[in-house]
Amino acid sequence: MEKWEEYVRRVVPYTPGEQPKETDVIKLNTNENPYPPCEGAKKLLENYNSDDLKLYPDPACTELVDAIAKVQNVKPENVFVGIGSDDVLSMAFLTFFGSDKPILFPDITYSFYDVWADVYNIPYKTKPLDEDFEIKNEDYLEPNGGIVFPNPNAPTGVYKETQEIEKIIKANKDSVVIIDEAYIDFGGQSCVPLINKYDNLLVVQTFSKSRSMAGVRIGYAIGSEQLIKFMSDVKFSINSYTLNRLSLKLGVLALEDTDYFNKTTQKIISTREKTKTQLESLGFNCLESKSNFIFASHKSVSAAKIFEELKKRRIFVRYWNKPRIDNHLRITIGTDEQMEKLICALEEIVACED
Ligand SMILES: *Cc1c(COP(=O)(O)O)cnc(C)c1O
Repeated sequence: MEKWEEYVRRVVPYTPGEQPKETDVIKLNTNENPYPPCEGAKKLLENYNSDDLKLYPDPACTELVDAIAKVQNVKPENVFVGIGSDDVLSMAFLTFFGSDKPILFPDITYSFYDVWADVYNIPYKTKPLDEDFEIKNEDYLEPNGGIVFPNPNAPTGVYKETQEIEKIIKANKDSVVIIDEAYIDFGGQSCVPLINKYDNLLVVQTFSKSRSMAGVRIGYAIGSEQLIKFMSDVKFSINSYTLNRLSLKLGVLALEDTDYFNKTTQKIISTREKTKTQLESLGFNCLESKSNFIFASHKSVSAAKIFEELKKRRIFVRYWNKPRIDNHLRITIGTDEQMEKLICALEEIVACED
């Protein structure tokens, strides 16, 4: 071992879902939106003058921040934007989780939380979901250095009512509570209105799922002016220019096209419910989902086997070989056509085993 290796910050990185090189696959493994970005985005790119890129972007991201504030019915001072919600969450961990007390999050949740905690040396404790994969309020009443969980939770899709979340926020006024709402637009109710009541609440959302812009990388946080100011101070101590000029414009266009947003999210919700019924008739048990994916296990065929068999048929879903969820698959909701192909493949796979 070289001497310098002693001084290396060693981390076990997050593993994102596979991005297959082939294009003729059905990709239901990373919760991307199957529908293209709004028409305005297409037009912008067709007419884009690349001279624009010689200048630095607006470090305050003013236009995008204003557009988000308008849609969310908050003030621009309540909005922080970053390079996808991963960047925003990472900044929030770095800014708010400086206590010696452990932060709390569920045992089964977004698998980036423990990675950020490790990279920033934040102590943490995980709290097991109950038998039905629900977050138990009583687990979040002990002294802590902060709380974070997604609503709906990932990879389960299980949604918690905002009245229940409010009880957790109310009981934790001494630490910052982060609600990661990556999937809130698929049928849930947002906690954003609660920011006026609780100055320690930070709500994080993204353009990656419901706005069809995973490739653009836009995420944002909404919270009290105080919280947002603290986060901005950290951001401006690391990198002033996070979002590029093109992303800033694309984000505004996505927010302006309310009709398209409503149409595509509603479509995904109806495809989800239809797919759930079909999966159940094939012997799958599906958790109630308020997201753009379904978390399912089969009564007789193992998830690992189904995962491999689907892959052979060029259908990608997500599988984790982890305690408690190693017999589940997370299936992203695609178009109706993609889901029909999935169902056909699954009919074959489970028939072989029965
Ligand atoms: C997808 C996802 C994110 C990150 O999304 P970005 O693409 O970085 O905006 C954050 N949290 C959860 C729970 C997610 O599923």
